[in-house]
Amino acid sequence: MKSVEQYRNQKVLVLGLAKSGMNAARLLHKLGAFVTVNDKKDFDENPDAQELLNDGIKVITGGHPLSLLDEDFKVVVKNPGIPYTNPIVAGAIEKNIPVITEVELASQILEGELIGVTGTNGKTTTTTLITAMLNQRTAAGKAYVAGNIGVPASAVAQKATADDTMVTELSSFMLCGIKTLHPHIAVITNIYSTHLDYHGSRENYIKAKMRITMNQTPDDYFVINWDSDEWQNLAKQSPAQVVPFSRQAKTKAGAYEVDGKLYFQDEYIMAAKNIKIPGDHNVENALAAIVVAKLQGVATAGIVQVLKTFSGVRHRTQYVETYEGRQFYNDSKATNLVSTEMALRGFDQPVVLLAGGLDRGNTFEKLAPALKDHVKTLIVFGETAQKVADAGKLAGIDDIEFTENCETAVPLAWQQSQPGDIIMLSPACASWDQYPNFEVRGDRYIKAIEKLTGKAEEN
Ligand code: ADP
Repeated sequence: MKSVEQYRNQKVLVLGLAKSGMNAARLLHKLGAFVTVNDKKDFDENPDAQELLNDGIKVITGGHPLSLLDEDFKVVVKNPGIPYTNPIVAGAIEKNIPVITEVELASQILEGELIGVTGTNGKTTTTTLITAMLNQRTAAGKAYVAGNIGVPASAVAQKATADDTMVTELSSFMLCGIKTLHPHIAVITNIYSTHLDYHGSRENYIKAKMRITMNQTPDDYFVINWDSDEWQNLAKQSPAQVVPFSRQAKTKAGAYEVDGKLYFQDEYIMAAKNIKIPGDHNVENALAAIVVAKLQGVATAGIVQVLKTFSGVRHRTQYVETYEGRQFYNDSKATNLVSTEMALRGFDQPVVLLAGGLDRGNTFEKLAPALKDHVKTLIVFGETAQKVADAGKLAGIDDIEFTENCETAVPLAWQQSQPGDIIMLSPACASWDQYPNFEVRGDRYIKAIEKLTGKAEEN
């Protein structure tokens, strides 16, 4: 960890606790800052705040009092989910106090190399693949996953040495709060339209994503999906060397697929069908990871080994089990239309699809072609149940069932299925209407499967 002096004896405000806020507060305390944390949850129900108070950190809970800004904070570290319209955030910006996110802080103390991965979809899978590939090198430091993947970057940055690499998944919300964060390799997997409620417009969303490359130099690399003219144009804004990847062989400058075969420049890597995780979208993720691995000197054998054996990240088209000829998949992380479409396109067998969740105001007709091609039965729940059902009707699906949630959907899916079918939770919606997060939704779905197959009783 670098010895950073800029926070010593300075007043700093950490806004919003949870994992990243806790880590930021602790780190700033360790760096000698006078830390105040502010969280809207009441103190009595706030174990995080209680813990920090015990560590000697000032905590203000139960709301966001504007009077907080009367103190002269050197910096505000905000939870990525808190919008810029929040009065304290807006007030701090008005007072010219820098507002950053915890990943920025982490990058300031990191001694090792930083690789950043962003994009609408495929971030976690690509981050995980890159890390596994880098760890195939014998004569190199260790690679760690960090960031939006659920491991706070500031915790990893404290333990990573100068030889190590922090492979950091960066959400657009996190990227809005960086100032100096500078990845040696920055990856954009793809950019679709989502999170427009937070960013206001697609233009702003793209701007947020492109912040990943803004501090790069010509000694760095910018890895981007080449399969859209828009993304190719974005590459022109990067100060770094551009290394593309393409599933449509639109370029041979980086990694690409031709006739089911994957290449890096002139070198044949492997057949796409031997990648263990299913679906064309995972071929894209694999290509992105191949570029990074090649740039970092991973041997082809190491790359192939990872792609042949890696069985997927939990909740991302994760294979759960086969019971009486039906294969169950958990794709709870599919919180938008494109994810669900990609997951469906990964299967040749008929799918019983479990979908629905938080209503963000969009409709689902764009999902109709994929539903038509792959889904035999559609089971819907949550705030968007009716809207998803409407897309199913448009797709000509005869068997559409309404139910309470993704757990009650499991026995229903079972009744409607037959051997050879896929039963998959891939909701195309966020989970917050019924669950605290997509992980809990996926875990409850798996529990419901275990109940159905008798496994739950055995344990
Ligand atoms: P993220 O971290 O960006 O949310 P994940 O790797 O966790 O992405 O994948 C989430 C879901 O998005 C997957 O279950 C899959 O359905 C879909 N997905 C993954 N990679 C891609 C991709 N490259 N393009 C489109 N959809 C994808």
